[in-house]
Order: sequence, then C-alpha cells, then structure tokens
Amino acid sequence: MSKFWSPQVKELVPYVPGEQPKIPNLVKLNTNENPYGPSPKVIAAIQAELNDSLRLYPDPEGDTLRQTLADYHSVKPEQVFLGNGSDEVLAHLFYALFQHDQPILYPDITYSFYPVYCGLYNVEGKAVPLTDSFEINPEDYTQPNGGIIFPNPNAPTGRYMGLEYIETILQANPERVVVVDEAYIDFGGETAIKLVDLYPNLLVTQTLSKARSLAGLRVGFAIGHPDLIEALNRVKNSFNSYPLDRLALAGAKAAYEDEEWFRKSCEGVISERERVTQSLEGLGFEVLPSKANFVFARHTEKSGEDLAQGLREQGIIVRHFNKPRISEFLRITIGTAEQNDALIRGFQSL
Ligand SMILES: *Cc1c(COP(=O)(O)O)cnc(C)c1O
Repeated sequence: MSKFWSPQVKELVPYVPGEQPKIPNLVKLNTNENPYGPSPKVIAAIQAELNDSLRLYPDPEGDTLRQTLADYHSVKPEQVFLGNGSDEVLAHLFYALFQHDQPILYPDITYSFYPVYCGLYNVEGKAVPLTDSFEINPEDYTQPNGGIIFPNPNAPTGRYMGLEYIETILQANPERVVVVDEAYIDFGGETAIKLVDLYPNLLVTQTLSKARSLAGLRVGFAIGHPDLIEALNRVKNSFNSYPLDRLALAGAKAAYEDEEWFRKSCEGVISERERVTQSLEGLGFEVLPSKANFVFARHTEKSGEDLAQGLREQGIIVRHFNKPRISEFLRITIGTAEQNDALIRGFQSL
C-alpha cells in the first residue's frame, strides 16, 4: 500500500497464476500447458517473421488471422475478435457486455479470474453453487442476472456439459449475454460456436494456449454476433490497438494450418488422460470425469494438501486450491507419458 496508489488499486484483489518455478527437470503439471509442444510449422512461421518488418506496427485488426479463424469455424470475419490471450478477451467482455443492474452469474467453483474481473470493472458477481457432483445445473441460471459466464469444460473440475444444456441457458436469457469459455473444448467436447448464428446473445471464447500448445505466444479469440464483436472492438481500441504482435499473428495462423499436429496432440492428451484416471482410481482416488487436459481428483483417505506437498518434495508440481468444497482435490495437468509415470510413482511412494 502506498499513498501514490489510486483508490481503485487499493481495492483490487488480483488473480494468482500457477507458479512457474525456475527449477530444471521439474515435472510441471500445475498450469495446464500442453506437454507436446507447438507444431514445427508454427515455429517456422514465427522465424519467417523475424525480419526488418518488425519496425512496422502489426495489423491492428489481425485481418489475416481473423479470416483463418472464420474459415476454420465457418463464420464471418466480423464475428471474430482477437486478444492477447483469452484472458484479455475475457477482461474486455466483462467491460463491454455485462450489465450492472443485476449480478452476473458464474459457478462457485470455476476459473478464479472471473471474480477478479468483476473487481476490476466494478461488476457485481454471484457464485452459483455447482451440484454435489460438481456439475452446472442450467435451471440455476434462469434467475435475474446481468450476464452469465462459465467454462465448458469447467475448470478446475474438468466436467463437460452438452450443447443442449447450454441452449437451455441461452433460451432462458435472451436479453443477456451468455459467455462460454472454451479454453479446453478440444479435448473431447463439442464447441458452442456452431450455435452463434442461432443465438445473438452467445459469445464463445477460445485460446491457443492449451490444445494448440502456444501459452507463451498469448493468443485468444471470441466468436459471436457482429454486434457483440463490435462492442469488444470499441473497448480494445480504447485500450491497446495492437494486442497481437507480428510474431503472434503469424504463429497463430500457422497453428490452424497444421490440423494433423493438432489432432495428434489432442488424441495423445486424451489417451493419457484416460490412463492417468485409471491409475489414480487404482490408488484410491475419486477422479471427476474430465474432458479437459487435466483431471480433478481427491484421495479417499489422504489430504490434498499433504499429497501436493509430498509430490513437490519429489520435484512434481500439481495445483492445490485451498478453497471451500475443493480443498481435498488436486488439479493435475496431463503430461507426457514419462511425466505421468513419474506422477503415479510419486503418489505410490506417499
Ligand atoms: C487457461 C484458461 C484461460 C486463459 O487462457 P489464455 O492463456 O489467457 O488464453 C481462460 N479460461 C480458462 C478457464 C482457462 O483455464
């Protein structure tokens, strides 16, 4: 705290990202990065961009990448908004699209950035409890609200909800924007992007950080009705006209031109996820059904905190949230087969 701080900054409660320790040979299963790495075509495209053109500003609207994403998802370019990671897209939509007359709704157990953006933009948030089996009940989202946001699959639970349930929420809220945060959709779910032409109140966000293995490049996007995209553009152009640099624009485009790499890496994560789930169940864990690149699991006898600490002493990091309802759970990112083997051996020794 300092006398130089604005009153707003004094009140802020920032997000705490998973740690990025600088320890070699760490088995790092705490931030849901993709273990397989980006396509070599992405690396080549970024290297090809390393030239004198870096003295020039990038395309402020990222037209080429927006066209690529529009073609990929069978929408129009004016339905696509780009951001410096999907976190930036989320920040802008909290400002651009959520109303202040009622609280916005999100699950009680979900991405913890949502309440942080509420604090930043002075939007009231209301946490709606998940069911006892950690599922979203669409009926709970029919109450008056200023907007709705949830990830599908949800984080950190990994639980996925079919599009028919999302349609129930959309139909119950025709006057409010419903945001589906699809950071993990490519690991077995079906995207709600196919609903955007039916529902002008639907905005879907995705990221290249997880399934496309580009967390370090910082690219995310939203797809929805052109009116929603225009609102996001108004905020973006009042904040930073050039959120994506030349390297990010080139690398992201190339990521969508290597479908084979993408498919193989998702398949690898999914098959390892099933293997890890079975091993954990064999060790006495309850594992929630996951369609993400992580599993959320609690041991029937051992404490989540002790297990996380015990793994850490062996150079294996997973995420533990010291929060109500989930303090016995661990969120474990699916790693390479070797990392997952190390994880299982680590648990066996505890
Ligand atoms: C990882 C994640 C994001 C943010 O991803 P970016 O790296 O900022 O694109 C957004 N939502 C959820 C639920 C996530 O887990």
